[in-house]
Amino acid sequence: MAKATHLECALCGERFEAGAVHGLCSCGGPLLVRYDLDHIRSRWPRRLVPNGPPNMWRYRPILPPAEDRVVTLGEGWTPLLQARRLGARIGADQLWVKDEGLNPTGSFKARGLSCAITMCLELGIRKVAIPSAGNAAGALAAYAAAAGIEAHIFLPRDVPQSNYLECEAYGARVTLVDGLISDCARLVAERAPAEGWFDISTLKEPYRIEGKKTMGYEVAEQMDWELPDAIFYPTGGGVGMIGMWKAFDEMERLGWIGARRPKMIAVQAEGCQPVVRAFEDHEPRSRFWEDARTVASGLRVPKPLGDFLVLEALRKSGGTAIAVSDSEMLDAGARLASEEGIFAAPEGAACAAACEKLLACGFLKSADRIVLYNTGTGLKYIEAYSTRFPRVASSEQDKLGGLITPR
Ligand SMILES: *Cc1c(COP(=O)(O)O)cnc(C)c1O
Repeated sequence: MAKATHLECALCGERFEAGAVHGLCSCGGPLLVRYDLDHIRSRWPRRLVPNGPPNMWRYRPILPPAEDRVVTLGEGWTPLLQARRLGARIGADQLWVKDEGLNPTGSFKARGLSCAITMCLELGIRKVAIPSAGNAAGALAAYAAAAGIEAHIFLPRDVPQSNYLECEAYGARVTLVDGLISDCARLVAERAPAEGWFDISTLKEPYRIEGKKTMGYEVAEQMDWELPDAIFYPTGGGVGMIGMWKAFDEMERLGWIGARRPKMIAVQAEGCQPVVRAFEDHEPRSRFWEDARTVASGLRVPKPLGDFLVLEALRKSGGTAIAVSDSEMLDAGARLASEEGIFAAPEGAACAAACEKLLACGFLKSADRIVLYNTGTGLKYIEAYSTRFPRVASSEQDKLGGLITPR
């Protein structure tokens, strides 16, 4: 089956050859992988898709590796769960949660890094480096371990403990940085050339987005090729949003879906909302968000490199961008857990809080088919949820008649 034909700069349109190592375009734009879609269309009708494996590699004909070998830990093909109780409370008759918390390493970052590390092996790259707010680092460390390649990871010092621990456990070389992900990115960019590291930063490397786009293919397949009316996506770097938008275009050209698109809704944190601000100001790009802070570490991206692509998807789809506070996220997370049995990352919970707001103000209707992306598991956010569920001392629990404590 035909593979990628070339890569194309999303900003200036310049073409790059497939099957070679690439970073950003010289103009600073990220590269998108292009395929011979007519060829794929003639050989891969959508009725063949269910023959594939129960992971994201079921969409292999539209993914970049040319060789047989893929680095997989079983990522993707996550459940799309109907949320009836939550829906009834907030007034949505048809509400689903796409639960990405079930991925290897507990977040959807596994999809991007399975694809990126597969391409590293194929292209002969043996040392990679990443700046990360947390989950991308854990996923990189795991896939690098599975592939037997060297991973150098730069994390903000206040990253969730789970992310630090998993990176160490997977055998990565970890550096904790006093600063934000943008400071980590600067360190990687400075050191990578001399160290011989390939910089696998969000969107600076073209294949992570290809893995993440499978979230768009899956939601279409799981809804019987009828896309929902609205998709809520917690937006940090925005790669998932950009990837899904690309997937919808590809599927239309494959003849799998029509021209209708869901309203794409970017959810951000009040303490870091560059995309919301740019959307409201009708700007094509975002401005750096000063003093970014939120417990949703995946949303702490002060200036997304692909902001213009996210904003384009929001506008073309008739969607919007909305911010929620950290306490709204954690409350929504607690409710999602107790009402649906889904313990979401604060990022995913933010989608539930945002959905409630957009139903209340009439932007969405009760009959709309709505999908919320829970991008990670709540179990990776022990510190954040501990503020919501403090553990009372055992003597106090005795008084409350709660627990029987051993003497
Ligand atoms: C990285 C991350 C996000 C943001 O993802 P983007 O696609 O880069 O916007 C959201 N939620 C979680 C849990 C993440 O790890």
